[in-house]
Amino acid sequence: MILDGKGLAARRLELLKEDILEGGLTPTLATVIVGDDPASHMYVRMKHRACEQVGISSVNISLPEDTTTRTILDRIRQLNEDPDIDGILVQLPLPKSIDTEAVLAAILPQKDVDGFHPLNMGRLVTALPGPRPCTPKGIMTLLHEYKIPIAGKRAVVVGRSVDVGRPIALLLLHADATVTICHSKTENLSEITTQADILVSAAGKAGIITAEMVKPGATVIDVGTNQVNGKLCGDVAFEEVEKVAGAITPVPGGVGPMTIASLMENTADIARNRCGPSL
Ligand code: NAP
Repeated sequence: MILDGKGLAARRLELLKEDILEGGLTPTLATVIVGDDPASHMYVRMKHRACEQVGISSVNISLPEDTTTRTILDRIRQLNEDPDIDGILVQLPLPKSIDTEAVLAAILPQKDVDGFHPLNMGRLVTALPGPRPCTPKGIMTLLHEYKIPIAGKRAVVVGRSVDVGRPIALLLLHADATVTICHSKTENLSEITTQADILVSAAGKAGIITAEMVKPGATVIDVGTNQVNGKLCGDVAFEEVEKVAGAITPVPGGVGPMTIASLMENTADIARNRCGPSL
């Protein structure tokens, strides 16, 4: 079974559009991008297009590569104080000269649409409600919508980044999976991945997950976005793994669109909470 993230995200965005309209909400998302990285600019454009599609206003602050951490912190403070801005997203990665942790910690936790603020990360660890990082949230939505059993199952996550690997491992744990996290120092990776009922790969290494690393019938979630000879591909050797897996996400058209749908949902949630109960 192909887990059609593109189709599901489109349906969720349609529902969200109706919801925003019916609720009389006027959510606004601010994005901050630093530097000229073409991929980052493309992602920001996609996010703004999705905003337009669902009725979320958006503003973009584009800063040059040589911007200082201090200047970014000032811009974030202005956005924090602006009552017309619901959500703030800083496009990552930031240039190496910038203190990324300081920037993420400067975003008001109530406006943190990506859920990367340390306070919201703490809420994730303790399973308290709060904005969840968009890619892991999108993966969980995909698993739930396709009714993939999670409770009691073995989940293996390849990758331990703060934005993907760790939060998806925690969300799977909160959903009662038995979770193992692998990384670049993991020995005998395939011995671990073959135990997985749910295998999530977020390593950013094209083709790292091959058919013999997958348990027959497993659900395989490919987070990787890699460019190989100008072509976008995931971490999973799709053609061979598809024959072994029970369910699998394609790249493109799997996790990517779900990430954007989750960002829109987080922004609308924040706007809704502003008009009603707090987070
Ligand atoms: P990251 O910060 O570079 O983290 C990669 C992780 O994979 C690290 O924990 C690393 O281990 C581990 N890793 C690398 N090579 C490995 C190997 N050979 N075996 C086992 N583990 C290995 O990347 P990220 O931000 O998590 O993103 C991962 C991938 O997902 C990238 O391709 C990124 O573009 C993509 N992505 C896609 C979306 C989407 O919406 N589709 C969203 C976010 C990210 P160490 O910790 O030991 O270095």
